[in-house]
Amino acid sequence: MKYVIIIPDGCADEKQESLGGKTPLEAAKTACVDSIVAEGTTGLAWHVPDDLVPGSDVANLSLLGYDPRQTYTGRAPLEAAASGIELGPDDWALRCNLVTIENQSMKSFTAGHISTDEAKSLLASLNEQVDSSRFEYYPGVGYRNLLICRDAGGKVPLGTSTRTTPPHDLTDQSILDDYPRGPGSDLLVKLMDQSAAIFADHPVNQKRIAQGKLLATSTWLWGEGKKPVLDSFAKGYGPSGAMITAVDLLRGLARSIGWQVVEVEGATGYTDTNYAAKGAAVIDALQKVDLVCVHVEAPDEASHEGDLEAKIKAIESIDKDIIGPVHEALKRMGDYRILVSPDHPTPIATKTHSRGPVPWAVAGAGIEPDANQKFDESTAEKGEKRFPAGWEMMKWFIG
Ligand SMILES: [Zn+2]
Repeated sequence: MKYVIIIPDGCADEKQESLGGKTPLEAAKTACVDSIVAEGTTGLAWHVPDDLVPGSDVANLSLLGYDPRQTYTGRAPLEAAASGIELGPDDWALRCNLVTIENQSMKSFTAGHISTDEAKSLLASLNEQVDSSRFEYYPGVGYRNLLICRDAGGKVPLGTSTRTTPPHDLTDQSILDDYPRGPGSDLLVKLMDQSAAIFADHPVNQKRIAQGKLLATSTWLWGEGKKPVLDSFAKGYGPSGAMITAVDLLRGLARSIGWQVVEVEGATGYTDTNYAAKGAAVIDALQKVDLVCVHVEAPDEASHEGDLEAKIKAIESIDKDIIGPVHEALKRMGDYRILVSPDHPTPIATKTHSRGPVPWAVAGAGIEPDANQKFDESTAEKGEKRFPAGWEMMKWFIG
């Protein structure tokens, strides 16, 4: 049996006045996913528990069959896994943005889209100044970097009640009430203050002043967590798996559950991604593993930008260039099951993730067809099968 999971990130939405009362999914031409509903079934699932933030990390954990309440430990540990950074059981990972703070306000959570080379140079200076047995700064891409706090004999004072604020939620706002709080916050504030002192007359910033660019005034630490303890997918569900994505969170999630990560040329994590290459990569990877999951960030990015036209176009491209060819290929391979589902809605109206239900479509061996014919929010509402605890869907899907 072969399995495919296709995740159009954030594609679920609300009815739009400008679309004559239709949602983007209802307005988009999606013959391929509609045929999955017609041959199979559809319904709703809830992937974000009430007490968790509707991030792609939480929602995708649930979509892949893991109860986020039991398994979610934070964003940074998943990004560390994506970069192949090993964490001990009591080590902590934190996201370490390079930011521009002016007059106690978050002017830029990207330090003016600082380059990877500049970030590497700034982080190298931090690594020279810290106790290397306890702290390791890891450069990532541009402003997205990591800090690992090694346990070093119980020296990390952070706890599950430590609170931090994502810097992208603070743009142009005062940061004074949003410094780290709770256990270990003194240490985090000290590390951020230390970075401000080191960056103040750093050659990278001197050059940026001369170029009229925003300065990297300090780090901003957030997204903290320990290594998640996740059973491998194969142990919990059976099939061996592979992930195709352009997003580090999903790479990290895949590695953490024992999946291979397949890199695809032209996969950008944006609306200009090479959809057809991702579709072809799914078909190719099915030769090597039982289950292939392909995640496409484009509809979510279009929603964050409030770009309805781009969102519909992304949905149609996923349908035509990924879902269609993959479904055809599966039919030639024998027994299969296919699942199409976003992780969470990203309504155009609010430009951010919501915790509401998402529609899903499933077809294949042993799936009894129902009368529904289309993939959209209102048809899924009519579906008989519902998963209020979204992570319980995987067991049913694998069968
Ligand atoms: Zn998402």
